[in-house]
Amino acid sequence: MRRHRNVKIVATLGPASSTKEMIRQLFDAGADVFRLNMSHGSHDDHRARHAIIREIEAETGRPIAILADLQGPKLRVGPFADGAHDLTAGDKFRFDLDDAKGDANRVQLPHPEIFAALEAGSELLVNDGKIRLTVDSCGKDFADCTVTVGGTISDRKGVNVPDVVLPLAALSDKDRGDLEFACEMGVDWLALSFVQRAADVEEAKALAKGRAAVLSKIEKPAAVRAFDEILHASDGIMVARGDLGVELPVHSVPPIQKRLVRQCRAAAKPVIVATQMLESMIESPMPTRAEVSDVANAIYEGADAVMLSAESAAGDYPVEAVTTMDSVARSVEADANYRAIIEASRKAKLHSVADAIVTAAREIAETTDIAAICAFTQSGTTASLVARERPRVPILALSSEVGVARRLSLTWGTHCIISPRLTRFKEAVVNGTRAARDFGFADETRQVVVMAGVPFNVPGTTNILRIAPCDERLIYASDPE
Ligand code: PGA
Ligand code: MN
Repeated sequence: MRRHRNVKIVATLGPASSTKEMIRQLFDAGADVFRLNMSHGSHDDHRARHAIIREIEAETGRPIAILADLQGPKLRVGPFADGAHDLTAGDKFRFDLDDAKGDANRVQLPHPEIFAALEAGSELLVNDGKIRLTVDSCGKDFADCTVTVGGTISDRKGVNVPDVVLPLAALSDKDRGDLEFACEMGVDWLALSFVQRAADVEEAKALAKGRAAVLSKIEKPAAVRAFDEILHASDGIMVARGDLGVELPVHSVPPIQKRLVRQCRAAAKPVIVATQMLESMIESPMPTRAEVSDVANAIYEGADAVMLSAESAAGDYPVEAVTTMDSVARSVEADANYRAIIEASRKAKLHSVADAIVTAAREIAETTDIAAICAFTQSGTTASLVARERPRVPILALSSEVGVARRLSLTWGTHCIISPRLTRFKEAVVNGTRAARDFGFADETRQVVVMAGVPFNVPGTTNILRIAPCDERLIYASDPE
């Protein structure tokens, strides 16, 4: 089984996609990575989905990445005495630490850190930014505000505080429990919500202890400002447009998306574009034209992956949503303009032997008719560097580490294969060309690039590139070693 596109599809699992039949259909339709959203569902729900994915992996022989998305420090108001209240522009409203039920004039906001960080003039957003309030005055346990945009405030609605860096721990107690649960169960990626600084990522990495790679969700203005350091500390990035579009004006999201995608590619780290990509497909079997354009644009920009949230987790048409992304991807990638854009936006700084070798592999793909690039990769770095080049031909990423092969399934253009441990380069040539033939990337008349690091099993040593025939008799005849 092989995919006929480079960009990857992340599908969130939820009540609409929890049976084995449905998850298998999503995989067959094109989902490469499954997201478990720790904001919803019990550990038992996630454990059951995890087990199903691993069963599908065993049945299909294809490594699949599982991404556990941690809720992060999501702020919420307390409950109201009678459920909800309408706020109108001009109204005065108070947030405080008092756990008495809320009314038309006040409600609890059980986060002392917020009051410590607020100043007169700060903005508070409630219910996905639908209600806006400006702080008039505040103290260590209250903030008196004026409503600037009205709406209905109700029990436990989310609160965003865009303009201040909150002195909040990146990981709540719930997140720590979820992180340990997810690592213990065996997920491949952790996504951190509401990252504000590089130290947040380092803290999560220290807890994950290499059991899972760590991806930062960029959804706060502070994270956009500190993006260089956050990218450096992270293994991957998600452009989390939902909360980002609440915390910043929606019109500032597209330029940020473009910049983040480019920087991630230059750093050879995978980037997911997420949220509302096919939102109308929650209820409709057909996407809108605008949604199709949005997915297409993310692919033209060079994103590694596009993501489905409620469309696959809770919608009426999860399979159709994956199928739509798959067909949009194939259509974009078949466009001559796509290659032109992808090539024009290549801007990595090259300084290592591995950089030189992956650049050479990409140039060979441009000037000859090789069928694929087979990259033997111990830590995943070499395959990520090849992917950064966005070559014209498929990338076969071969690793003896099952976790590496799974993680790489989020990366642009990689067809991941679990390979035996090797000791000699000749074995790499035999195994790489065989995989290219077996998975339908090349027949015996074609040639492929094989690259590896010798000695094997030492990460970061990529130092051999060979153009090899796929005909095994020719391999042995030309290279008796
Ligand atoms: P969420 O993150 O769906 O977990 O909120 C994505 C986003 O905010 O876009
Ligand atoms: Mn979010």
